[in-house]
Amino acid sequence: MHLPRFRHLSATSFEEAVSLLNEYPDAALMAGGTDLLPRMKYRLDSPEVIVSLKALPADSPSVTPEGNLALDPLMTLTAVNRSDMIREWAPLLSEAAQRVATQEIRNMGTLGGNLCQQTRCLYYNQRHSFQFVEPCYKRGGEICYFIPKGKKCWAVFMADTAPPLISLGAQVKIIGQGIRQILLEDLYTGETEKPLAMASGEVLSQILIPKAPGNRGAAFFKSTLRGGLEFATLSVAAVLDMEDDGETCSTARLTIGAVSAAPLRVRKAESALTGKRLSKELFSQVADEVVAEIRPVPHHGHSRAYLTECLRAETRHALCSAGEGIKKN
Ligand SMILES: Cc1cc2nc3c(=O)[nH]c(=O)nc-3n(C[C@H](O)[C@H](O)[C@H](O)COP(=O)(O)OP(=O)(O)OC[C@H]3O[C@@H](n4cnc5c(N)ncnc54)[C@H](O)[C@@H]3O)c2cc1C
Repeated sequence: MHLPRFRHLSATSFEEAVSLLNEYPDAALMAGGTDLLPRMKYRLDSPEVIVSLKALPADSPSVTPEGNLALDPLMTLTAVNRSDMIREWAPLLSEAAQRVATQEIRNMGTLGGNLCQQTRCLYYNQRHSFQFVEPCYKRGGEICYFIPKGKKCWAVFMADTAPPLISLGAQVKIIGQGIRQILLEDLYTGETEKPLAMASGEVLSQILIPKAPGNRGAAFFKSTLRGGLEFATLSVAAVLDMEDDGETCSTARLTIGAVSAAPLRVRKAESALTGKRLSKELFSQVADEVVAEIRPVPHHGHSRAYLTECLRAETRHALCSAGEGIKKN
């Protein structure tokens, strides 16, 4: 598979990237290229211009005057996983970064690229020239090959680092139309064809993670059919913040990945944990609530029935593991 021809423009700052994107409205932004370039090889994207961020060095993590951990979206996933500061501040993120793809891809792929990747589908993410005469919804047509009676696109958002960051209450800074700062969960539209709430000239320039309270338990689980190189069957990121007694949950955040066009917070299940003394029985009840709240989109050969049972088991697993991680005072 060959890449289509394109012009490569190297930005020397995020601001220059924004101005190049405005100058060439059909340009694509590239960080590590591990999502964009395969898409181009499959002719899912054919930008005439690529605005590359590769020449920009990634800043090391730092603490802002407001007390947030600031991350550069250009950090590679390997750097995210190896950072002691991230491991201490946000171990969930460190673990999720390590679960993405293979070492080679993690050496190239960035945190920002991971958060801004496109929705995926087994039928869409492959070469089309010899297979499907009619384009599917995501390619501008009016058919879904995965769910033939479907009246819309059913592609799924599969980035591994998004659910942990959402459960950690992360915000993102976006430049391009002034500077705006939004909760990461609000970056995701839930629309398969335009999964990100960003205009074409906008660039993600910072990720901010609030400091964790002292009494926190957290866990991330990514379920895959095989252990190695694989996108998630689904993922669960659980964060439990506790009252001073160490037994009552003050705030719970539970985010599920790879079951929909956006990572999903399960708010009813979260409220079922809030104010309660934690126990394995409660975690089982909450896992049932999650399954009642979410209908996973079948994807990559996994049926809804399978994903539902997987969701129940992984939620319970993640909550038990988060519960075990709470430091007792
Ligand atoms: C074989 C293979 C396996 C993979 N397995 C996984 C996996 O298990 N889990 C997973 O989550 N991903 C997986 N990926 C997808 C991809 O490698 C990762 O998501 C990676 O983190 C993407 O980062 P990147 O810097 O290479 O993104 P790029 O390809 O450079 O960009 C991806 C998208 O994000 C946009 N973008 C990049 N940076 C910014 C920014 N700062 N602001 C705004 N938009 C931006 C780009 O325009 C592009 O649309 C896999 C990819 C391959 C090829």
